[in-house]
Amino acid sequence: MRLERVVLRRLAMPLVSPFRTSFGVEDTRDVLLVQVEGPEAVGWGECVAMSEPLYTPEYVDGAHAVIRSHLLPRLQQRGDELVADEVATVLSPVKGHQMAKAALETAILDAELRAAGVSMSSRLCGVRDRVGAGVSIGITDTIGELVELVSGYVEAGYLRVKLKVEPGWDVEPVRALREHFGYELPLQVDANASYTLADAAHLSKLDEFDLVMVEQPLRDDDITGHAALARQIRTPICLDESITSVAAALDAIDRGAAAILNVKAGRVGGYLEAKNLHDVCFERGVPVWCGGMLETGVGRAANVALASLPGFSLPGDISASDRYFRRDITEPFTLESGHLAVPQGPGLGITPDLQVIDEVTTLKEEIIWQAT
Ligand SMILES: [Mg+2]
Repeated sequence: MRLERVVLRRLAMPLVSPFRTSFGVEDTRDVLLVQVEGPEAVGWGECVAMSEPLYTPEYVDGAHAVIRSHLLPRLQQRGDELVADEVATVLSPVKGHQMAKAALETAILDAELRAAGVSMSSRLCGVRDRVGAGVSIGITDTIGELVELVSGYVEAGYLRVKLKVEPGWDVEPVRALREHFGYELPLQVDANASYTLADAAHLSKLDEFDLVMVEQPLRDDDITGHAALARQIRTPICLDESITSVAAALDAIDRGAAAILNVKAGRVGGYLEAKNLHDVCFERGVPVWCGGMLETGVGRAANVALASLPGFSLPGDISASDRYFRRDITEPFTLESGHLAVPQGPGLGITPDLQVIDEVTTLKEEIIWQAT
């Protein structure tokens, strides 16, 4: 793939409402957008690192720096022979930084697929033309506010609700949602690693509410703890932050620490590795679903393509664009009977709107691609 220029942009995207989790509050999404340009096509990738290193060690300033100083120079050494399939291998000497690597690989893959006229979903061996949409609800100030918020999303047609929880905000809000919406509503919780194994008895109080899963109750590195917790509660455990690679996933599954996995391409270094992760889970009969990181339409398009694979048997955190942004940087994804349509056009199948992007750009860096 011949490339001539890379543009790194930082965007300030105001969220429609602040999003609170056990590790912090976001009200503006600081997006790092990667654009690669060649004579045949332009490709796009979105880096999902957050402003602060609280969800995982990565953060957006760090991702920007590592792309500029360590990742791009390695890719440029491959020159015109570079293909998306080998990006992960070329970048493997650099430890970690999966979100930064994923953004670069996605942009190069998108350019390649656009040039070849192949959709991302086809490239990943997707089998669906629409994917089930779930909604992730941040921590609210009151239970009344939570019920009102969830009512709006249920009315909009979302197929399942995920509630962020933390110590002090768990059993009672879940009870309130079950009392209000009944047991028909697929409901799950995400703790973002905010409990310890000492909370096992408390977490077992969630069992009576028939949750689809509890996501990442314990620390990222505590696989043994998750396996022990799985023996003490009935609610299935899903892992998110712990799953940084296919190897980490197999370890967690084989040790009984995870019955379900949340697949996020940014967390494992790209969509090609995310497909590998899907494939090993599919072989083992472990259900997976696609997580979300408050993506713009660029990242959302890639997630929807990933969720079209056969093992994504549960609705993901793949919401319509208006869940997060009043105005997206691509054509918006909209909800139709609880589903989002999988883009069928070449590459990501969306068209970034350069005028809108320019309006929200806070920093733009152009790098001439110099094959060395
Ligand atoms: Mg999560």
